[in-house]
Amino acid sequence: MPGTPQPTHPVLSVVVPMYNEEEVLPLFVERLRPVLDELPVSYEVVAVDDGSSDNTSVLLQRTLRDWPALRVVRLRANSGHQAAISAGLQRSVGDWVVTIDADLQDPPETIARMYDAAVARNVDVVYGVRTDRTADSAFKRHTAGAFYRMMRRLAKLDLSQDAGDFRMMSRSTVDAITALPEHNRVLRLVVPTLGFPSTTVEYRRDARAAGESKYPLSKMIRLTLDSITGYSQAPLRFATWFSLLGFIVAALVLVYVIWSKVSGGTTSGWASTVVILAVFSGLQLLCLGILGEYVGRTYTALQQRPSYYVAYDSEHTGPLHTGETDEPID
Ligand code: UDP
Ligand code: MG
Repeated sequence: MPGTPQPTHPVLSVVVPMYNEEEVLPLFVERLRPVLDELPVSYEVVAVDDGSSDNTSVLLQRTLRDWPALRVVRLRANSGHQAAISAGLQRSVGDWVVTIDADLQDPPETIARMYDAAVARNVDVVYGVRTDRTADSAFKRHTAGAFYRMMRRLAKLDLSQDAGDFRMMSRSTVDAITALPEHNRVLRLVVPTLGFPSTTVEYRRDARAAGESKYPLSKMIRLTLDSITGYSQAPLRFATWFSLLGFIVAALVLVYVIWSKVSGGTTSGWASTVVILAVFSGLQLLCLGILGEYVGRTYTALQQRPSYYVAYDSEHTGPLHTGETDEPID
């Protein structure tokens, strides 16, 4: 636009985690670049090489030469999909940031629709929702379905069954995420937890364009454990529930023991031993449960998730931060 100063930073950042993607990389660049060049806004692509051991880094260096909008960040060791995205988010500078897989399962053309939706509907997050996952294996679909169902119940989050890590976020959302000090963050849970205004854009999940999945079962289990421990304290409550069960059993045993004692069919010492055992097992579990509650609270405090984010303040013109730095109210 004539007269308007051009922003010194790109409007859109595209963050792409890559781990041993030499086979798919040329196809990905070939398809992504025209889509981004067509956009009415400036962009950067932040490719995060997650410690690849194949030719990914060589290919990226080659691509860097004739694509000035590309930025390559290489992690020293393979740190996982989520960590690679986090590294890219941290380094991105755009007003909008989209995270996309390198294997062309998320069609790059959807980025344009996401950008339009974000601007038109004035939201902070645009989730890419998969309408058709038939391109994924049945195993992948079932485990993913179970994962979302479990996390919806455990973390009481309003999760879309089919929203993965293909999403566009505003700068405020990205800043809020990168400011969180927690380790092993699971982005598909962190973003809905923030609860910022959002919308969805549907897309068809394609099959991987080349190469093999970089998500073996061990990495899927890791992600599930990070999700459960990061977003739910349900496992800590197991001891409390068991203690309740223990007390019910102890009460029943007590009734039985008294009845046996009265009817006179017991060896001496049996009644007291059984009662003591039942009562104290229950008490021990109860104490574990109480400890669990405190451990849970300590854990929540350690995660330092702010309780709110300010969107607008008429008295404040600078960048708005979270509630955590505000003075406490007396
Ligand atoms: N990825 C990564 N680090 C890893 C595993 C995967 O950066 O340790 C990247 C990978 O290159 C791809 C994205 O994460 O761009 C999703 O991985 P993949 O397609 O293998 O997972 P799937 O679609 O099979 O769940
Ligand atoms: Mg994939």
